[in-house]
Amino acid sequence: MKLNIFWFRRDLRLDDNTALINALNSDLPVLPVFIFDTNIIDELPQDDPRISFIYEKLVLINSELEKYGTSLTIYKGEPVSIWKDLIAKYSVANVFINKDYEPYAIERDAKIESLFNDSRITLKKYKDQVIFEEGEILKPDNKPYNVFTPYKTAWMKTLNEDLTLLEDRKLKNQVNFYKIPGKFPSFEETGFRESSVKVKPYDLTVIKDYDKYRDIPSADKTSYLSPHLRFGTVSIRSIARKALLENHTFLNELIWREFFMQILFHYPHVVIENFHSKYDNIKWINNQNDFRRWCNGETGYPIVDAGMRQLNKTGYMHNRVRMITAGFLCKHLLIDWRWGEAYFAEKLLDYELSSNNGNWQWAAGTGCDAAPYFRIFNPSEQQKKFDTDKKYIRRWVEDLDKPSYPEPMVEHVFARNRALMAYKGSL
Ligand code: FAD
Repeated sequence: MKLNIFWFRRDLRLDDNTALINALNSDLPVLPVFIFDTNIIDELPQDDPRISFIYEKLVLINSELEKYGTSLTIYKGEPVSIWKDLIAKYSVANVFINKDYEPYAIERDAKIESLFNDSRITLKKYKDQVIFEEGEILKPDNKPYNVFTPYKTAWMKTLNEDLTLLEDRKLKNQVNFYKIPGKFPSFEETGFRESSVKVKPYDLTVIKDYDKYRDIPSADKTSYLSPHLRFGTVSIRSIARKALLENHTFLNELIWREFFMQILFHYPHVVIENFHSKYDNIKWINNQNDFRRWCNGETGYPIVDAGMRQLNKTGYMHNRVRMITAGFLCKHLLIDWRWGEAYFAEKLLDYELSSNNGNWQWAAGTGCDAAPYFRIFNPSEQQKKFDTDKKYIRRWVEDLDKPSYPEPMVEHVFARNRALMAYKGSL
């Protein structure tokens, strides 16, 4: 019996899932599968909280699928070899996926597509995790935008020309899944271990007043959508629709997300290099002990330490504090942004290559549309402005008033002048 396969990846939901809906609108029954890709997960600890989160969402999807008399088949391994087995086992006509724009995913999908071509199977690819993908918002000369504001203007203009882009995808036919009795693996059977760190549910009630509170870490009034957008447990269209109606500052943030995605797509060298090569000669100090103190939240700058401790405990850090801690690492300690980027990648529940890389390069002043390198945050001034009563700091730095709390590890004016010299190439 011929069938189609839908491959869940970073789109872990049934509703408004573009490729899934297209698969279900076709004439053949659809077999849903998920692969724990060992090329990615082998680099993570077995109790990585992001894997626990993925597993929780797969359980949910499976229980919804059971209502349709089918189940989710889970595999673990190297995707190309899993697909070789799958297409040997089933008579597959088409495989449906939502596109993933990260360099590794693009390479993996190309290999799989060529495997399918050899077997006359069509890989059907859809845009799902963004409103506009890499080739859709371009400058009049068809080159990508490197500066956010004109990108955003073009993004908004294109959206306003066709607001149906924000509508949910609709099912035309009766839901036609390939009926397969499920034996859904327990978490232990998948070879992972439960993490005590959990992804928080997202909160859309904050969108309305987002512009008023978003920069105040102690208010805790951001949406916590980032891991949900990362793993596609929520549809970007539904969120953008709400943002368009309720708060354009919030919509702006969603546009930053797409801006950095298209930067990564068009300039994949940013993964390992500065966006601007003119900064390649910065002499980073890269002191291991300084880095360890930054990671542990022991710099003696309470706002930096609060952020790092929040990250270490919860896998999350407020955006304003991400900017302060990142700037501090690069400018005050003269540690290569790539070290900080890697540490955030390991810890953040919402780790997303494009946003992490784009924001780190922004903070370091090496990126596209970065803050000019001579704009160096003073952590004490940032604290006075955004955490006036130290409410956020006290939540995370319990030893703030104890004699054991360290003195600032570097003096601000000295560090500022040193950074300016390093960026000018005269250190
Ligand atoms: P909200 O303030 O509620 O924003 C809503 C959504 O808008 C976010 O979920 C996110 O999808 C998007 N968004 C908000 N700010 C940004 C931004 N500056 N750049 C891109 N998208 C944004 N975000 C990630 O998703 N993954 C990362 O790995 C990541 N690394 C970062 C590293 C640094 C050094 C900095 C300064 C920022 C980083 N960000 C990253 C961006 C931002 O800090 C987070 O998206 C945000 O804090 C997540 O919390 P929230 O969902 O409550 O955000």
